[in-house]
Amino acid sequence: MKAHRRFTVRVPLPAELAALGPLSQNLRWAWHAPTQDLFATIDPDRWSATGDPLRVLADTDPARLTELAADAAFVARVTEAHDSLEQYLAAPQWFGRYAAELTDGSADSGDRIPPGIAYFSMEFGISEVLPIYSGGLGILAGDHLKAASDLGLPLIGVGLFYRSGYFRQGLDRDGWQVERYPVNDPGERPLSLLTDGDTPVIVEISMPGGATLSAQVWVAEVGRIPLLLLDSDIALNDPDPFGQQPGSADLRSVTDRLYGGDQEHRIVQEILLGIGGVRALREYVRITGRPAPTVFHMNEGHAGFLGVERIRELVATGLDFDTAEAVVRASNIFTTHTPVPAGIDRFPTDLLNRYLDPDGAGRSRLLPGLPASTVAELGDEADPGVFNMAHMGFRLGQRSNGVSQLHGAVSREMFADLWPGFDAADVPIGAVTNGVHGPTWVSREWRDLASGDEDSAPEVYAGLAAATIWETHEQLRADLVDEVRRRAHASGRERGFTDAELGWAADIFDPAALTIGFARRAATYKRLTLMLRDPDRMRAILTDPERPVQLVIAGKAHPADDGGKALIQQVVRFTEDPELRDRIVFLPDYDISMARHIYAGCDVWLNNPVRPMEACGTSGMKSALNGGLNLSILDGWWDEMADGENGWAIPSAEGIADENRRDDLEAEALYTLLEDTVIPLFYRRDENGLPQRWIEMMRHTLTRLGPQVLASRMVRDYTTELYCPAAQAYVAASADSYAGARDLAAYRQTVETGWSSVLVAGVDDEQLEDGLCVTAHVALGDLAPDAVSVQVILGRVTDDGDLVEPTVVEMRPAPDRDASGRAVFSAHVTPPVSGHLGYTVRVLPRHPLLSHEAELGLVRFPAPAGAVAG
Ligand SMILES: *Cc1c(COP(=O)(O)O)cnc(C)c1O
Repeated sequence: MKAHRRFTVRVPLPAELAALGPLSQNLRWAWHAPTQDLFATIDPDRWSATGDPLRVLADTDPARLTELAADAAFVARVTEAHDSLEQYLAAPQWFGRYAAELTDGSADSGDRIPPGIAYFSMEFGISEVLPIYSGGLGILAGDHLKAASDLGLPLIGVGLFYRSGYFRQGLDRDGWQVERYPVNDPGERPLSLLTDGDTPVIVEISMPGGATLSAQVWVAEVGRIPLLLLDSDIALNDPDPFGQQPGSADLRSVTDRLYGGDQEHRIVQEILLGIGGVRALREYVRITGRPAPTVFHMNEGHAGFLGVERIRELVATGLDFDTAEAVVRASNIFTTHTPVPAGIDRFPTDLLNRYLDPDGAGRSRLLPGLPASTVAELGDEADPGVFNMAHMGFRLGQRSNGVSQLHGAVSREMFADLWPGFDAADVPIGAVTNGVHGPTWVSREWRDLASGDEDSAPEVYAGLAAATIWETHEQLRADLVDEVRRRAHASGRERGFTDAELGWAADIFDPAALTIGFARRAATYKRLTLMLRDPDRMRAILTDPERPVQLVIAGKAHPADDGGKALIQQVVRFTEDPELRDRIVFLPDYDISMARHIYAGCDVWLNNPVRPMEACGTSGMKSALNGGLNLSILDGWWDEMADGENGWAIPSAEGIADENRRDDLEAEALYTLLEDTVIPLFYRRDENGLPQRWIEMMRHTLTRLGPQVLASRMVRDYTTELYCPAAQAYVAASADSYAGARDLAAYRQTVETGWSSVLVAGVDDEQLEDGLCVTAHVALGDLAPDAVSVQVILGRVTDDGDLVEPTVVEMRPAPDRDASGRAVFSAHVTPPVSGHLGYTVRVLPRHPLLSHEAELGLVRFPAPAGAVAG
């Protein structure tokens, strides 16, 4: 029998244990071991089955709570954990100290401190008790919030609350993925409803046909970071019984699933996230009295509509569109997360217009006061009729970045069209390499060795005895083997096999064998089955009697991706061979709770994407934080952090166009590395049975690589490189009733219309003893000489005439124009190097509120290319 409705009866906590309430509600418990231990003490079985403090409290017998209330030692632990939480929430932390340092400087340096930062994301992976994530993007957003909390940033997260989250993965008897969608009851989650007094806050958005999409707002406390989650599953969205609201039938299900619907479902979710999210944030700030964020971070294109909602707000206060856009751009940050074209959100413009301008009147009903066509143009791309969310993100974010150095470079190529005239290298997209949250992903055993202190951990690990490192790791590997057996058995049962048929699962895997992990979404470019390219060779590696290898595999395919499901099935079939099932396993339902065990217990983390499709990848970082050695294609983060001592680079056959051949070559390289290098090294033991060389690689990974892959490093980078400059740009744009933004908007208007008249009519140079005097004659149309920047670009020149690693010298305008009325600019340049040199001259827009010289995508060079000096 299924329940018709669900509800939770909360037993009131005894007064002595009242602090368990806030301790279970604030998600800081997810990375605070002493708090986890408290809930484990209350009911060890319930805790290990659910890992959920609220479930433990809800299911515990009141008599047990009365007993604990009388236990002075337990009460003292509760008090201590609660004090620790209060202190954690109040301490200034790194950001407080950084802000104090900055403000001590010159008069306006306080402008660099954002009073608040809003972080919008379609998914957040914080804990298994809040299943509103699908994979890497969500976990990254969760880690961002946690690290922001640890560092004391005034950040507010904004996302959606999905009733069924992402699907739970099972397998049928044939190894085919099946999806389940358990219901998330918000009443059973660590969430509170945002209310104004006693009234729930409702965010409203205009829908076609006069309908209104309403959403309530849940607040999760992630340490000190509030996370606002919009939820459309409320009675206000019920279909109108008199049929006067066509289309409204679906409104209640807008937030039913993550990545679950068609394009229309998706665009409405993104409208709710971006536009509804800003409205929810405004309500939250008004009710709580927190400072309003001035910096807005779009975590991927899904959040792009926040930019147009911010423009709408400013237009509603009387600003013109261009000035409002200048303010918003100054303070928006856009992070792009994938070079895979299918990963970019693109909608038919007609679909967008159905929401933006359903009556075809040209004025947006969704965003009152904004011209619909102007909004639609923000997502223009090369394909007509397509609205590209990433393009809108770049256009509405003066600062943008990719998520590893390599991905930054790939993004500069990929989006170069948005900055016509500029070489990819000059495209203003930066890079902040992702990181992972240490207290979440470093296993308890390693954290305890370092006394829980992330900063001093490298020093501690450096001083550990080799035997201690090895024993710690072997314990974690043994724990993983237990987990593999448990999950393999459970998965077999779920697939319909009987206990009798599953006897083998009880002793699969060997706690002492070299253990390799491979867990990630079954996206094509990640090549789940590359290791099976030569099944016989893989079989030989796994079943070597002297030097056995075992492989743990996990990952979900998107429900609509039959190709991905077929790859999973291929792996599952391979693992079912009685000769192999002892050594290779596919564990269904990869999520945070499983991930933790795999990262902690594997010796080697395998990653073989098609370079450069993996923007960053973070699972290998989590493995490294536990001493795992990466065996990976040089893609994403590994491209910049592999140093020869922290793992192995699988040679990539990039450039070979034939995919099959490329897979063959890379699989061959992978097998060879395993056979000749990795496996022998693991089994090379000294007289005490220790693989000394391997342990030194682990130590090197823990001490050198560890600190670089932390989310605390990432969030500090975002703060100093993006949040603070954006905060300052916001002040510059909005001070004196938006005088700066008005000026910039007017400038942009002038320069964009006048640019066609800008022409480098002539360039002369004169050889001097110590260099060159370059003079340029530039027609500027109506632009003043100080409205542009004219530069000499000088450097070595290739046989093809390309300038490499050039130096840039600013040219000065002469007081008088030439005979034809052109402005004259000149500079004296001293070549920094000798050899074959060349130079050119370029003209760029110049305005103090532009963040980058390429920002407006305008540049003029002389035609043809400049002269070559000796
Ligand atoms: C870290 C993590 C991911 C992302 O891993 P990638 O290396 O980026 O593929 C996905 N799912 C879970 C559960 C994770 O913990």
